[in-house]
Amino acid sequence: MNREYYGKLIFELSRQGRRGAIVPDNGCPSAPKLPDHLVRAEAPELPEVDEPTVVRHYTNMSNNNFGVDTGFYPLGSCTMKYNPKINEEMAQHHAFSGLHPAQPAGTVQGALELYVRLSEELCRVCGMAEFTLNPFAGAHGELTGLMVIRAYHESRGDTKRNKVIVPDSAHGTNPASAAVAGMKVVEVKSLPDGTVDIEALRPLLDDTVAAMMMTNPNTAGIFEHSVKEIAAMVHDCGGLMYYDGANLNPMLGVARPGDMGFDVMHVNLHKTFSTPHGGGGPGAGPVGVRKGLEQFLPSPRVMRDADGNYTIECPEEALGSISATLGNYAVLMRAYSYLLSLGGEGLRLAGPLASLNANYVKESLKHLYKLPLHGVCKHEFVFDGLADKSTGVTTLNVAKRLLDYGFHAPTIYFPLLFHESLMIEPTETESKETLDRFIEVMEMIAHEAAETPDLVKGAPVNTPISRPDDTAAALNPVVTFADLKAACND
Ligand SMILES: *Cc1c(COP(=O)(O)O)cnc(C)c1O
Repeated sequence: MNREYYGKLIFELSRQGRRGAIVPDNGCPSAPKLPDHLVRAEAPELPEVDEPTVVRHYTNMSNNNFGVDTGFYPLGSCTMKYNPKINEEMAQHHAFSGLHPAQPAGTVQGALELYVRLSEELCRVCGMAEFTLNPFAGAHGELTGLMVIRAYHESRGDTKRNKVIVPDSAHGTNPASAAVAGMKVVEVKSLPDGTVDIEALRPLLDDTVAAMMMTNPNTAGIFEHSVKEIAAMVHDCGGLMYYDGANLNPMLGVARPGDMGFDVMHVNLHKTFSTPHGGGGPGAGPVGVRKGLEQFLPSPRVMRDADGNYTIECPEEALGSISATLGNYAVLMRAYSYLLSLGGEGLRLAGPLASLNANYVKESLKHLYKLPLHGVCKHEFVFDGLADKSTGVTTLNVAKRLLDYGFHAPTIYFPLLFHESLMIEPTETESKETLDRFIEVMEMIAHEAAETPDLVKGAPVNTPISRPDDTAAALNPVVTFADLKAACND
C-alpha cells in the first residue's frame, strides 16, 4: 500500500489542464450545436489527471481490498472458500458472456442446456425433484421458497396458514423473508446443546403453520440430529419444511436435505459452489422443491420439448416471475464449472474436509477461547469470546487484532445465542499450514489480551484505517464527491 496515494480521492489529485492522452485534431467539423436547453450552464467537475496517477490511484485502492485471493477468510456462515480460476474462465467464455437475456430461445440453446444441467445436478446433490435457478441470493431464494409454500397451501384451499416457525439460532434473513412474504414469525428455542428444543416446538404446531425453516447444520455448526422427527411433526400438522441451504457445504457427499424431510430449499451458489462474494454480491439462490411442488416454481422456466429443443416457458400455475431473467447467469456458470471440475469424487470430499478443518481449529484453541457447545461440529463452530474474561478484551477486539496479522475476522456477535460469539468457518480449501498459522495467531492474541490488553483493545494498528465508526458510515454513507464536500462543509 502506497501512502502517497492512499485515502486521496481522484478529484483531489486533479490539476487544471492535466491530461492522460493527447488527441490530435483530425480535421473533422465539430458536431452540430446542441439546442440551448440541453447545454450545461457550467462545465462538469471532472478530475484532470495524468495516466500514471490514475493507474496508481486505482491499483492502490484495489490493494486495500481483502479477499479470498489475498488471505485466509474464516467468516462463519459465509463459506469463503477459495474460488478456482477455471470457474472464472468459464464464466467469461465469449460464447456465453456475449448473449443478451432477451434473445429468442432458438439462438441460445447451449445456455439453456447449461441451465437445465445445473438444475439436474443440484437435484442430485440435494435430493430434490426440480430447481429454479432464477433467484439472485439466499434471501431472495427464501422469499421465493416461502411464496411457493403459500401457493401450495392456497392451491389446496388451506388459506389460514400464515405462521412460519424459525429457531432462535436462525440467520436474520429467515424471519425477514417470512415477514416480507406476509407471514407471521414464531421463534422456537434451542436446547443447551444448540439444537432445536422439540418440547418447545410441540405446542407451536397447529393448523396455522405454513412452514418451519431450518438450517442444518445450524448456525452454530451443530447437526440437528432430530431433524427427521421434527419434519414428521411439522408434516403431521400440515406444514412444510424449508431448508436454508447456506450451510449445505458440510453436507456435500454426506447427506441430502430431501432425505432429511425438507420440501423446499435454497442453495447459496456463491457460498457452497464457489463464486467470489465479498461485499454483498454477486450471488444466486436457486430454489429446489420435492416432487409435487414443481408447478408452483416461478416463471420463466426452461423446458425441453419432444424434439429435444429447450424452450422458455411461463406456465399458468407458476407463481409469476421473481427476477427479470433466468437468474444471475455468470454465477450459474461458475457453479456448473465447479461441479464438473470437482466431479463426484471431489464433491464427496469437500464436506467432510470442511468439517475436519473446523474441528481441528476448534480443538486447538478451546483451552484459550470459551467453547459453549461441545462435541463434534460440522463446517463451523462458535467461541463465546476469550476463556479469560477478566482482561476486558472482547470478541470485537480479538477480531480487530486479527486484521493486524493479515487475517480476515471471523463473524462476530452472531449467532445471538451467546454474548461474545466468534464464529469460525475455515472451509475445506485451506492447507494445514494456513490453519496452523491462524491457530498460532489466535493463541498470540489470547496471550496479548492477558499481558498487554490495551494493545488488543486499540487494534488494528497495522491497517490503513484503524476503527471507523461503522454505524455512522452505514447511516450517512459518503459515496460521491458532492457528499464529501457537503460533509466537509457541515
Ligand atoms: C448467508 C446466509 C443467508 C442469506 O444468504 P444471502 O445469499 O446472503 O442472501 C441465509 N442463511 C444463512 C444461514 C446464511 O449464512
